[in-house]
Amino acid sequence: MNKELNKILNNRIKRMRVSLMTYNLKVEYCPGKYSYVADLLSRNYKQKIKKTDDTLKDIVHIMEVVNLKFKNNKESEFKKAILEDITLKLVEQYVREGWPKQINSVGDIRHYHKIRNELMLEKGLIYYGCRLVVPRVMCKYIFKKLHESHLGINKTLKKSKLIFFWPGMASDITNAIRICETCIKFSIKKIKEQLKQHERPSVPFHKVGLDIAEIFVADNNPCGSQEYITFATQWRFEVILSSPYYAKSNGLAEKAEGIAKEMITKARYEKKDLNLFLLNYRNSPVAGLEYSPAQLLMARELKTLTNFLNPNIFKPKLVNCVGEMQTQENYQKHFYDKTAGPEEKQFTESEKVYIYDKFKK
Ligand SMILES: [Zn+2]
Repeated sequence: MNKELNKILNNRIKRMRVSLMTYNLKVEYCPGKYSYVADLLSRNYKQKIKKTDDTLKDIVHIMEVVNLKFKNNKESEFKKAILEDITLKLVEQYVREGWPKQINSVGDIRHYHKIRNELMLEKGLIYYGCRLVVPRVMCKYIFKKLHESHLGINKTLKKSKLIFFWPGMASDITNAIRICETCIKFSIKKIKEQLKQHERPSVPFHKVGLDIAEIFVADNNPCGSQEYITFATQWRFEVILSSPYYAKSNGLAEKAEGIAKEMITKARYEKKDLNLFLLNYRNSPVAGLEYSPAQLLMARELKTLTNFLNPNIFKPKLVNCVGEMQTQENYQKHFYDKTAGPEEKQFTESEKVYIYDKFKK
């Protein structure tokens, strides 16, 4: 009864849920032998004009379907692509007229058959739950949009799974990022050291932002200077300097700095607006968590050029992920410490490689 509409798989139950939405019901089990009245009423009910499935279906769709906003001619391009896609044309027909019990042919249609209960049609587009089904010919375009800011594989995948669907999407995206020229060009070779973790701050900015911070973790230079220490005393915050022999102990900040630097470089290289890169980054789930920096700090997603979707994500929603963070920290530590040194890659003859010149940059 309390299940969210988009999580109900069966269309018939979904429609029932919609028609019951206006009521506030309390359901109690009553064994058949005691339900004298209900039995009478079920036989003696008032005849009503039967609503057709179509109208109900409309209600379902208005409430259910993502408010997808297309730019330019993309919507008609999508519709045209669906009509020209052999598989999707079939899917569309099956969603309208009902699916066969079994699909004997191989290929994508089998994937769609498995998720048939969650497929919906809306104005010539096909949806899988809240996700837009992408015709094959549009996959490349969608990938380009998703990977606009050259975020890593995990972040791009998480974002894509919220908005789009096509069979094999995850592996397509993974492979495309692996061969993305900009990403390869600026990928950082990481030299791994043992991970030392900081205590997790209890509130946002407790440890990072200077304005309301109480503890400020910083590099020795320039924060170890007398001037800075005096400043800290005046403003009543504590400075923890990372050890000169172990600079990586300020790893989290340096990681963030690394990401920022990478974004600046990539934005410059592609002559794009850095703010767009930052915006997309703030909206992408933090590694190992369900939530993005925006979600954690501001309790909602930020509107970007690519998340033309569900207005629900802009509604503030407080999230608590302390447990998840702990699990993630333990997991990180465990695996980080196990491995050491960068991965060796085998090259084949005549393969194109980038060489990093430390002294020329
Ligand atoms: Zn890239």
